[in-house]
Amino acid sequence: MAEILDGKALAKKIRKELKLEVEELKQKGIIPKLAVIMVGDNSASQVYVRNKSRACEKVGIEFEEFLFDKDTLEEELINTIDNLNKDEKIHGILLQSPVPKHINIQKAFERISPSKDVDGFNAVNVGKLATGQDAFISCTPYGIVKILEEYGIETEGKNAVILGRSNIVGKPMIQCMLNKNATVTVCHSRTKNIEEITKNADILIAAIGKPKFVTENMVKTGAVVIDVGINRLEDGSLCGDVDFENLCEKASYITPVPGGVGPMTIAMLLNNVVKAAKLSLK
Ligand code: NAP
Repeated sequence: MAEILDGKALAKKIRKELKLEVEELKQKGIIPKLAVIMVGDNSASQVYVRNKSRACEKVGIEFEEFLFDKDTLEEELINTIDNLNKDEKIHGILLQSPVPKHINIQKAFERISPSKDVDGFNAVNVGKLATGQDAFISCTPYGIVKILEEYGIETEGKNAVILGRSNIVGKPMIQCMLNKNATVTVCHSRTKNIEEITKNADILIAAIGKPKFVTENMVKTGAVVIDVGINRLEDGSLCGDVDFENLCEKASYITPVPGGVGPMTIAMLLNNVVKAAKLSLK
């Protein structure tokens, strides 16, 4: 029976540590502050932003929302980012995705100052991660690394298979696992014989957004299974990209959805805001 990787509990522990760091920073006259920009009224985004705001509040990080109408021009968004870059009271800037189609989101990510890019989506931070330099690391992969470390899961020389190659999860996850000396294979929608590849995984990380895609026959006994997916089923319940119930018997460790990777993503965002605030002291 697999051990459950409790991301919720680990996130709570990290928040407690961050709260102390925030108090120390406040004594030095710095109040860490996150600016969140949202364009349009995507209901899932509204929930994510609310969760981030609550999490900030819990550790004493200030939070300010910048809400824009769905018809907002890219230029106006870019101007706001420029102003936030200049604002010394703001340490982290986050642009919530998705944005309306007329806005080039990568262009907007590039406009965020690398020193305030707490999501780690700016090409400077992506490049630093890829070249082994200190960087703001995309929060979901970073959270997964922290889970593996917390549970003492060996990565060196292990076969890590990543399902999904998005810029925000799959690709930075490749770098994170390489940096941890795993042998990495990445699969995507054009990959042939996925099952043959996943069966070789010592560590399988699923980030494709397809409910219960990873089934028992795709995983070898004793594999570590990390489920990034968040999918809403017709009955309103949430499930991951992994068939959790059936894999519990076969895996050695597994993350639940909810309560696995999700809370760690937010915890690492807070971590990155505190890191940015500390860097601003220098
Ligand atoms: P995305 O941008 O839609 O990317 C999905 C990736 O999966 C793509 O690389 C795609 O391949 C690949 N893919 C799709 N169908 C596939 C299939 N049948 N077989 C193999 N690969 C397939 O998604 P994302 O933003 O990375 O998010 C993935 C999931 O994680 C979603 O459920 C999202 O809600 C969730 N998520 C969770 C967190 C969290 O904190 N827990 C954070 C971020 C995202 P191509 O590149 O070939 O199209």
